[in-house]
Amino acid sequence: MNPSASWDKTFDVVVIGYGGAGAAAAIAAHDAGAEVLILESTSRGGGNTLVSFGGFASPGETDKAVSYISALYEYSHSEKDDGLIRAFVEESSKTIAWLKNLQEGVEVLTYGGASYPDIPGAEAIKRYVIKGPHKGATAFAQNLWLLLSGAVEARGIPVLTQAPAERLLTGPDGAVTGIMASIRDKKLLIRARDGVVLTTGGYGSDAEMLRNHAKGSPLYTLGHQGNRGDGVRLAQKVGAGLWHMNGVSCAFGIKVPQFESALLIAIGAAGQILVDRSGKRFVNEGAIERHAGLLSVDFFDSQSLTYPRIPSYLLFDEATRKRGPVSRTAGLGYAGVQHTWSKDNSVEIMNGWIIRDETLSGLAGKIGVDAKTLQHTVELWNRSVRAGRDSLYDRELPHAPLTALIETGPFHALEIYPCLLNTQGGPKRNEKAEVTDPFGEPIPGLYSAGELGSMWGLIYQGGGNIAEALAFGRIAGAGAALRHATGGFRRSFR
Ligand SMILES: Cc1cc2nc3c(=O)[nH]c(=O)nc-3n(C[C@H](O)[C@H](O)[C@H](O)COP(=O)(O)OP(=O)(O)OC[C@H]3O[C@@H](n4cnc5c(N)ncnc54)[C@H](O)[C@@H]3O)c2cc1C
Repeated sequence: MNPSASWDKTFDVVVIGYGGAGAAAAIAAHDAGAEVLILESTSRGGGNTLVSFGGFASPGETDKAVSYISALYEYSHSEKDDGLIRAFVEESSKTIAWLKNLQEGVEVLTYGGASYPDIPGAEAIKRYVIKGPHKGATAFAQNLWLLLSGAVEARGIPVLTQAPAERLLTGPDGAVTGIMASIRDKKLLIRARDGVVLTTGGYGSDAEMLRNHAKGSPLYTLGHQGNRGDGVRLAQKVGAGLWHMNGVSCAFGIKVPQFESALLIAIGAAGQILVDRSGKRFVNEGAIERHAGLLSVDFFDSQSLTYPRIPSYLLFDEATRKRGPVSRTAGLGYAGVQHTWSKDNSVEIMNGWIIRDETLSGLAGKIGVDAKTLQHTVELWNRSVRAGRDSLYDRELPHAPLTALIETGPFHALEIYPCLLNTQGGPKRNEKAEVTDPFGEPIPGLYSAGELGSMWGLIYQGGGNIAEALAFGRIAGAGAALRHATGGFRRSFR
């Protein structure tokens, strides 16, 4: 489609999607001298970035970080791009300085390191958050968003909300020249003289794409409802090659009718065990890497033709119920920010989200699990706790081991599903954040950043998505802005 004569608006760079990657791209493009427009399909910016924990990885020593990250692909057999990994490491090591430059007085805190500390080079990975005025589970994400959106506003970059991009427009040579967006029911053709940056996030909220690309069912999302795979379709239509479509970052949660997205539940606290649909434990609950939840439940049984671990059930007794909120992370995510989990879990019991019964066999009946098997599982667990060693999975017991017992009624269960933090797949990009076709050739004028077509594959490094959104957002924005620059003069050919 080439509307050449009929553009409604013209900018140098158009950024589609206003989350972390979109904000970084817009700031970088603006700072490189471009006139920038941001489009956001929902009523406000922030996307997944704003409902996340807000942590970002920033590697130290380049070579060590490169070898650690490279190993994640080798273990998972995901498609790897060495140039892209190096570009990520080099650019994201500049992120803290870049953030501090956006506003005076920005402070960062370090909160963790590599997700897989035994892999060589892990010591080079550090994770950070932004200190700031916000409180609560998403405080660090809100601090980050305050900083990014503040920098966008301070630069006077226009943001059109409720303005979904619907098509990329191309010239006769296939180069992307602009977009068609729907703004208040009107179709607008917007020219992007230098380039379009796709930062529309993933497809966690698109059930059909999940069915096509991710194993395990049902799968719910913890993330933003605006992330519906638009960027994947937009890029496919202009010839992009896809990668990492089976890569998801997936935790556990519950799905309740009150919210479109799921509520995040952290697994593995003392006094909780996870059982499958037959009532048996199947995993060391304390050792599931929190972004790799799906990998522990996506087993499909070709005899019973079911996913026997979806749902699974998180069991605990009355003593554990009274000790505190069943999940420390329930306040994160698109639905989590709308619900304050009660201190003693009583609201969630009243809501029917936590299933409860005076007896274990009664609870088994309510969750549809064989009562004898469940009884046996709990007895075995309690014996392990008393013996000081988990005989099945060698799970580490708490300092006060008796708090791990499941013996005081009433008994409780949460119906647990794999719940996506985000998806990684989408159009492939190169180290210049240019979207490439299936043969690796850049599609002129098209850039991308963030979780759309992310560098991460089946195994993910915590803090890696926001780090990538910020790093490739900057590369994409500056790359688009300087696309036509020659001899240091932007757009001098025009
Ligand atoms: C609960 C939770 C916790 C997480 N914690 C972390 C963490 O601590 N560290 C980390 O690295 N990652 C974390 N993640 C993942 C991380 O938040 C995301 O991968 C990252 O923020 C994605 O940034 P993005 O800019 O690519 O996309 P987003 O921030 O999701 O922004 C994409 C935007 O594009 C918009 N959009 C979509 N389609 C269109 C269209 N057609 N036109 C216009 N706009 C469109 C969407 O509405 C959305 O606002 C977490 C995710 C969740 C859900």
